Amino acid sequence: MDSGSLIMDMKGIGPKTNALFGKLGLRTVGDLLEYYPREYDRFQEPVSAAQARVMDFAAVKGMIVTNPSVKKVKTLQIVSMQIRDDNGDQMKVTWFNMPFLCKTMHPGMHYVFRGRIKGYGADRQMEQPQYFTLAQYESLVGSMQPIYGLTKGLTSKMISKAVRQALEQGVRLRDPLDVSVREAYGLMEKQEAVAGIHFPGKQEMFLEARKRLVFEEFYCFLLGVRQMKAQMASQENHFVITPKREVEELIQRLPYALTKAQRRTLQEIQADMTGPGVMNRLVQGDVGSGKTIVAFLALYQAALCGYQGVMMAPTEVLARQHYQSFCRLVEEQGLMLTIELLTGSMTASQKRKVYEKTASHQVDIVIGTHALIQENVHYQDLGLVITDEQHRFGVRQREALKNKGQLPHVLVMSATPIPRTLAIILYGDLDISVMDELPASRLPIKNCVVDINYRPNAYAFIQKQVEAGRQAYVICPMVEESEAMDAEDVVTYSRKLTGELPPSIRVAYLHGKLSNQEKDRIMEAFAANEIQVLVSTTVIEVGIDVPNATVIMIENAERFGLAQLHQLRGRVGRGAHQSYCILVNTSSSRESQKRLEILNHSNDGFFIASEDLKLRGPGEFFGVRQSGELAFKLGDVYTDAEILREASEAAKKTEAVDWAIPVSM
Ligand code: ADP
Ligand code: MG
Repeated sequence: MDSGSLIMDMKGIGPKTNALFGKLGLRTVGDLLEYYPREYDRFQEPVSAAQARVMDFAAVKGMIVTNPSVKKVKTLQIVSMQIRDDNGDQMKVTWFNMPFLCKTMHPGMHYVFRGRIKGYGADRQMEQPQYFTLAQYESLVGSMQPIYGLTKGLTSKMISKAVRQALEQGVRLRDPLDVSVREAYGLMEKQEAVAGIHFPGKQEMFLEARKRLVFEEFYCFLLGVRQMKAQMASQENHFVITPKREVEELIQRLPYALTKAQRRTLQEIQADMTGPGVMNRLVQGDVGSGKTIVAFLALYQAALCGYQGVMMAPTEVLARQHYQSFCRLVEEQGLMLTIELLTGSMTASQKRKVYEKTASHQVDIVIGTHALIQENVHYQDLGLVITDEQHRFGVRQREALKNKGQLPHVLVMSATPIPRTLAIILYGDLDISVMDELPASRLPIKNCVVDINYRPNAYAFIQKQVEAGRQAYVICPMVEESEAMDAEDVVTYSRKLTGELPPSIRVAYLHGKLSNQEKDRIMEAFAANEIQVLVSTTVIEVGIDVPNATVIMIENAERFGLAQLHQLRGRVGRGAHQSYCILVNTSSSRESQKRLEILNHSNDGFFIASEDLKLRGPGEFFGVRQSGELAFKLGDVYTDAEILREASEAAKKTEAVDWAIPVSM
């Protein structure tokens, strides 16, 4: 067996399991080894019953003091019993549908019970705990068990078993880091790191292994960036797009004045497009800073100069939203401009019609999702390509475009503000415009950080806002099967919330496992105010613009990165009405509270990003999600800023660039 062997051929893997691995994109043993755990189940020292607080996931050592009792509630069989800890305090533990426990659990037996604490006051109990003999638990304390991103039917145990088999058979992965680089930065070998990330045992091993793999990830990425930069430097401008009077006139007619930042950015874009070299610019704009209109003005100018333009969005919902707002603008302002939409849910014949128009230059601007625009479309005079909300695509896009004739101008728009020092490293191949200013007419969002006891007030507040004609978002963490965590998931949450609100208020939910059509349908119904409250995972994070939405309530806020929370919050405060952000903190940790306080006191994305950078030291990243746009497999540009800096230094020093290294982006 080697890294190229198929998972299918591993011992104990049948066609059914193999198909499940396939669903996760894992085909070879090498893929499997590089499928790193998403997080870890960490076994902490047991605490006393008094220390275990509601909502904690805790381990309590105790002796059973009552005979187990079984109660039937509808179809559920609930087993419960009392345990007593070393201090003499009692706690109730319960299991659902495990009646056989009555036969094995008896008064006088000692176990460590590990589970979520639920309920209130005297009603407090540990639900569905795992249980271990004292010796079993002793051997687990301090260890970290891998938890993988899963798909239905596959468990973390199945994945870790397969990984262990591969490691035991001595499968090796190519090490992209030269020994000189490893020695210079004190990094372990790839093989050791891979074993360490899957089965760290203790935290020290995990940190070392992770550091090494994060370094590799950044290093390969930055080599790709450098390679791109070298290629771009020599590209001459074949599409001279000069400023036009019509653009200036349109700006004067807009219902609002452009901000200084919008003005400056547009001027930088115009200077690029008339200059000697082709444009490669990143616009880093805080949420709501008004990037879309800047993009439109650049596309309009290109069209006036006789060139076609493309605007790519990461999702169909966003593409359609841009299309509609562009069409509205063209109509209101009476512009001579033809615009087409291209998305995956269109029929083949609809798509064909658009292809014909692009090829014969009957259309000026095409808006669509990335894949579609890249694959089948031919243009007569493509001069400008804009990518919204996802710089990675922009980078890759240039590669694809190179093969389609002359290289057009490329403008990439990102809503993830990052500190300048990081931006220079990460976007080394791009010129950067910063839009750090919100339109003056906006009311700043009002924020609060609350605990779960505040929920009823929050619901009442949402109800009041809806009754005043507004709309609300409630955000829950991802829907994903995970063994050790039981985050509120959107489906049950929206059911519960529906019960809390009057029947006249329509609640719907949105998550990543719905089909694209389904997602679009719901988003459009929300945009049309047919749905008033949308319970969603972070799939709504990118760019959605529903100015009538004024409340965003974020559950388990401590589980998100600050940058991402700021993005989510940016879904409100986009219109004339006062908006509100309710951050629900379910953790009792001081650090979580401190982090969320930053958001509570600032609406400035660049400030938040730099604070995030200061606060998040190693060890803080467990379970905290990174902004989707800057997500590396393991690396986190905030937490790992120091590794990023080192990797950048190493990449610069790498004299003979290994062109075979895949650009991991
Ligand atoms: P983002 O930068 O997050 O993509 P958008 O481009 O979607 O933001 O703009 C958010 C909202 O602000 C839109 O409804 C847009 O019409 C409006 N807008 C853009 N520029 C201005 C401005 N200078 N003054 C007032 N409103 C503006
Ligand atoms: Mg946007």
